Amino acid sequence: MFPKFRKLLGTDGLQRFGLIPFLFMALALVTLLFVGCLRLMEWNRPRDVARAESASGVSVERDISVRLMGRQPRRDVQIAVTSAFSISDARSDRPVYQSDVPIGLSIVAPFRKNGISIGHRTIDSNDVIVTPVRDASIVVAKPTRRGNVPHTYRGRLRIERRGDGLCFTNLVDVESYLYGVLRGELPRSFHSEAFKTQAVAARTYVLYQKRIASPGRTFDVLDHEGSQMYIGVRGEDRIAVRAVDATRGEVCLWNDNEELELFCTYYSSTCGGLSQPVNYFRGSERNIPPLSGNVRCTDCYVSPYYRWKSVRVSKADVTRRIVENYPSVKRIGRITRLEPKAKTSDGRVIRIKLVGAGGLNETLMGEDFRLSVGSRVLKSTNFMIADDGDHFVFSNGRGFGHGVGLCQYGMETKAARGMSYVDILAAYYPGSLVRRVYD
Ligand SMILES: [Zn+2]
Repeated sequence: MFPKFRKLLGTDGLQRFGLIPFLFMALALVTLLFVGCLRLMEWNRPRDVARAESASGVSVERDISVRLMGRQPRRDVQIAVTSAFSISDARSDRPVYQSDVPIGLSIVAPFRKNGISIGHRTIDSNDVIVTPVRDASIVVAKPTRRGNVPHTYRGRLRIERRGDGLCFTNLVDVESYLYGVLRGELPRSFHSEAFKTQAVAARTYVLYQKRIASPGRTFDVLDHEGSQMYIGVRGEDRIAVRAVDATRGEVCLWNDNEELELFCTYYSSTCGGLSQPVNYFRGSERNIPPLSGNVRCTDCYVSPYYRWKSVRVSKADVTRRIVENYPSVKRIGRITRLEPKAKTSDGRVIRIKLVGAGGLNETLMGEDFRLSVGSRVLKSTNFMIADDGDHFVFSNGRGFGHGVGLCQYGMETKAARGMSYVDILAAYYPGSLVRRVYD
């Protein structure tokens, strides 16, 4: 051993330093190498200390129906199919059209009294499913204020005729759907563990929506923030795909009378300090433990909406926007006074009384009031109201969104601090468990 070290260090070195110091140096070198290896193993170890467990006994259906471009039928929408495809009747499965070649963007419209036209092709059915040969071949040009924006989707496309318009629904496997949700919901800068947390919450949300969908409804979720933002293939970057794949089949469950059950994993951008019980948000919801609120969270202080500035809205605008959504409120005339009727412990308006110029009044849930006035005008229901002549002033705003369940900015801070996605979900949905329901 010595001759080897001698060779390494050189006999001159050994002679210069002496035997004892040399032994100390060798010992220090070995110790450093050992510690270094341990650190390397530590870095390479998966960060999620608490792993999801499988074998939940819960069975789910994985085919998801996503209504594109809102509930209302649309006119003059363009679609393309970038591979060969077939079209069948959605109800009877009867083949109604076959194409060996792709088609470019073509207007889809109701055809006369019966049928659907796609460009110059006429389909003899009012409810069809377009099935491409290759995945990710459906293109729908969504009309926006900036013109048509083409979105590519995996899976199949259902086109239903409703009167003079058409409804478009993407039929897609839940894992493919999630690829297109995460980047619709989270900025790219968020931590990978936050993406995993979001993947499990979004998967649970959509599978729960599918489970409770009423018979006859032809979609499970919408493609916008009314359900979850779904942007299709354009959202499939590496961080989103990795988060979905790393949590494949994992959902949040809670123990309902000895049965593990899915629940509606509500989430919102910024709770502002305290989560809200679900029945204050929607009166009909069951206040189960994971959604019972009162989870303290100051981790969302990083959000630009942790606190928001005063907003002035004219009384005329408030009246118009409320009546648009709740036509029965028209009977009270112009809204001149707003009175919060109940508030949570941290100041969220649970119910609000609207008083008209003639003294008549109506009461709305705080969240319904907020969404009617504008979800981006009033970032949350946590505000003070002042009367300023022809205007209402909403001040001392806290948080963004309904504040039920998971807080996305809080999740990001927790993830950056080193918490695993399983632990983050357990923190925001108390009493819940993460389990894999399919491989
Ligand atoms: Zn929060």
